[in-house]
Amino acid sequence: MRTVTVVGASLAGLYAARALRAQGFDGRLVIIGDEPHAPYDRPPLSKDFLTGSADEAALALTDDEERADLSAEWILGVRARGLDARGRTVLLDDGRTVTTDGLVIATGASARGLPADGLAGVHTLRTLDDARRLRQDLTRGPSRVVVIGGGFIGAETASSCAALGHRVTVVEAAPLPLVPQLGREMAAVCAGLHRRGGVDLVTGTGVTALRGTAAVTGVELADGRTLPADVVIVGIGVIPNTAWLAGSTLALHDGVLCDDGCVTALAQVVAVGDVARVGGVRAEHWTSATEQPRVAVANLLAGRTVETSRPVPYFWSDQYGARLQFAGRRREGDRVRVVEGDVAEGVTEDGFLALYERDGRTTAALSVNRPRPFMRARRELARETTQTTHTTETRETTAAS
Ligand SMILES: Cc1cc2nc3c(=O)[nH]c(=O)nc-3n(C[C@H](O)[C@H](O)[C@H](O)COP(=O)(O)OP(=O)(O)OC[C@H]3O[C@@H](n4cnc5c(N)ncnc54)[C@H](O)[C@@H]3O)c2cc1C
Repeated sequence: MRTVTVVGASLAGLYAARALRAQGFDGRLVIIGDEPHAPYDRPPLSKDFLTGSADEAALALTDDEERADLSAEWILGVRARGLDARGRTVLLDDGRTVTTDGLVIATGASARGLPADGLAGVHTLRTLDDARRLRQDLTRGPSRVVVIGGGFIGAETASSCAALGHRVTVVEAAPLPLVPQLGREMAAVCAGLHRRGGVDLVTGTGVTALRGTAAVTGVELADGRTLPADVVIVGIGVIPNTAWLAGSTLALHDGVLCDDGCVTALAQVVAVGDVARVGGVRAEHWTSATEQPRVAVANLLAGRTVETSRPVPYFWSDQYGARLQFAGRRREGDRVRVVEGDVAEGVTEDGFLALYERDGRTTAALSVNRPRPFMRARRELARETTQTTHTTETRETTAAS
């Protein structure tokens, strides 16, 4: 391969570029990103960056020295808008084309919005520019903030706004936030964090409209109430950035469809990070975006799938002074056992470790403020997964012979 192009100059894109060089690719490397910024880290945007305890320099994922070592051509501030049927030519918004032998798709996801007709004071939070705008609104003095959506981004943003002294309400359409991620039992426990952080949690009612003429003044709820608001943050999930691939031959369905090795239907095109649906699963977590590129690049350089990526899913969230960590593949109906700490009175400063179990085996682990026992549980999950994979492979080999 003489040229490899990476589209998406952020976390997964940077890790892919590093993996290419680490695995011996010494050809032309082109990195295309529609944001004008060098790769930066998103998790602090809803946490330390929003509260002002981290500045922009602290977000940088790379520095001049590493960029020089990577010896890549960076095309920043330019969107890729098309890929030809063979996956060999990337068309850019400024009319340029990049011809390539291999392609890494790392275009991530965009925040889902609400129709707000350009009302001032309404925000989503995905990019550095989003965070700058939100931070500016939040520094205008005490505000009434309504966060729409009680997922991780919503909860973290609410927590940061409360820490800045704003009056915050979180609106969640489901009866409880975070049920799909944590299951009902643990979601109920973690919902208590909002109240403990001085934030009102309104559940079981959707948003019907945003009120205001030039600037937002309120959020109208399906139950007839209107919550007064000076700032509204919409945290209702993301959409994978695949629109630019519409004219290609790649299979797109809530992400770019790949096999377990991040390889698409075209052997010289791989996808990684939030945009990739790997073996049927699309993760939206920092750790997946950093783990997949090594495997994807190995397969890209081999010209076929020689390695697969099935690590134990992991994510963390920082909210209201608590660190939540989750690992594993929980399913509806798993039994939950709190093995350390106590949740009878909700989440305490002391935190807890809970294990999800099915058929006598641990499927997942959740901890609040218990990083050490959590890491042990996570390692154990990884060991069990490896053993299960080996046992399954042995069975399949025996059956085939
Ligand atoms: C506010 C916030 C807080 C988070 N906190 C946590 C956390 O605590 N824990 C956790 O596990 N995860 C967290 N995440 C998730 C984590 O940051 C993502 O999983 C990770 O950023 C995914 O990396 P990525 O490179 O796949 O995608 P992205 O980071 O979305 O990067 C994709 C890049 O591609 C660019 N792009 C898109 N389309 C095009 C195109 N057509 N042409 C060129 N460039 C394009 C995008 O603009 C972007 O720069 C958080 C995310 C956000 C937004």
